[in-house]
Amino acid sequence: MTNDQASNSRLIIKGGLVLQTDPESTYQQPSFSVKPLDLLVENGVITRVEPDIREESLQGDGPVQVFDARRKLITPGLIDTHRHLWQTVFRTYTADMTLFEFLNIVNVFLAAYMEPEDLYISQICGAVECINTGVTTVVDHFHANNSPLHSRAAIRALDSTGLRTRFCAGTNKCLDIEALRTRRPGPPFKDNSWQAKEILSIQAERGELNDPLVTLGVSLDSWKMGPPSATVDLVKRCREAGIEVFTMHLAEGALGPSDEPVRKLDSFSPSLLGKDMILSHANFLSEEELRIVREKQVRLSATPECEALLNMDLAITRKAQANDICCGLGVDTCALTEGSMFTAMRMAFATLRYEVNHEFIVSGKFPSQCPKTARFGAILRDATLGGARAASLEDKVGEVAVGKRADLVLLNLDTPNMIGIPESGIPSALVTHATTADIDSVFIDGVLRKQAGKVLGHDLEHLGKLLRESLDRILKRAEKDGEVGTQVSKMMAKVFSLDQIFAEEA
Ligand SMILES: [Zn+2]
Repeated sequence: MTNDQASNSRLIIKGGLVLQTDPESTYQQPSFSVKPLDLLVENGVITRVEPDIREESLQGDGPVQVFDARRKLITPGLIDTHRHLWQTVFRTYTADMTLFEFLNIVNVFLAAYMEPEDLYISQICGAVECINTGVTTVVDHFHANNSPLHSRAAIRALDSTGLRTRFCAGTNKCLDIEALRTRRPGPPFKDNSWQAKEILSIQAERGELNDPLVTLGVSLDSWKMGPPSATVDLVKRCREAGIEVFTMHLAEGALGPSDEPVRKLDSFSPSLLGKDMILSHANFLSEEELRIVREKQVRLSATPECEALLNMDLAITRKAQANDICCGLGVDTCALTEGSMFTAMRMAFATLRYEVNHEFIVSGKFPSQCPKTARFGAILRDATLGGARAASLEDKVGEVAVGKRADLVLLNLDTPNMIGIPESGIPSALVTHATTADIDSVFIDGVLRKQAGKVLGHDLEHLGKLLRESLDRILKRAEKDGEVGTQVSKMMAKVFSLDQIFAEEA
């Protein structure tokens, strides 16, 4: 949707406690506090943040809505910098998979059996989960780009949900089932030469819309599958067309030794890497690669839960902090974990503390106080303003502040896990105690998307039925090609040279 619903509207959010960054704190070492403040939202933009805003004090005509926020905490909407909404349909199917199994079974094999209508329902359900969990902006890394119809279906779904999204269209080559069935010689991947043209044409169409919530990005997982000049040229053309975000998986090191991908990418062209790029799972970067990332202001995205589950080592949060690199947080695949950024924050916090504490254990010493580099504030920043910076949306979202779009989460302070927390403890409670069950309401661009604990405008029972039917369809199609699945697994093992180094079954 566009922001039409928010246009010509005035809204006072009254009586809540507002989470804000302390003005004297810095981006590197943020501190937060809460204050009783009212918000005025006009045409989707926060125009006043003050104590006691009264309807009669407003200038101009037109209706004014007043939203009662008493006993509620108002926070900026949470920002997920790396998620695959298209994988929502595979929830639980992947619980005991390794990274290698996930890559070859879900990303390559099953993705090839998804039709546009499957992607449509998966994207809707994934977006609904985002809204329910207080995620108001998501960087959606979409790599099931089997055909133009697939990406169109995915965007159409997002447009209907009201979720602010950086939809990062895939440039990877998808599996060619027919080539495997007929054992055609050569790599069994579909031609993807249409993708660049399609991305530029979608971008031109988006430009016709009035400030759409769904904006286009590009996922660049294709960079290893063609000549460097193709990647450099694609990024140049996309930047010229106004595309502001590029995402890339960078888990090299999880499946065999890392071959320093950032150094390689930087050697393609000095202007390739930049602050419009988000590298996910970059836990294996060398010191030299960290230097390049810092110098080029490349953004990172840590997804600590999936990284722990899928053999991608400890999240890079600590190294990012130490090197002054902007690093957002994310859930990654919603097939493997629930979509809550509270969990992502908690996992990132635990990982950060684990790393710091482990060093003390190894040194035989004990910290006299919690080190400044291991405190909750940086984690809360990474899920809000840091995420906005990573997604090149810092001018729009990430804070409850005048001039920002009204992407807001209202949490109930009277839930069993939040009662009695003093005001001074509320910012840390967002990292250590809060859950999705505490979320009362969610606004995106000034439009109410969740109220009284329920996501608005969606029949969840019906969506669940459609999602189950979609999974059945995908699995039935794939089951008929069991032999193809075995070939994919063998091929992928070769691609990663894993056939030589598979560990004995544990
Ligand atoms: Zn991912």
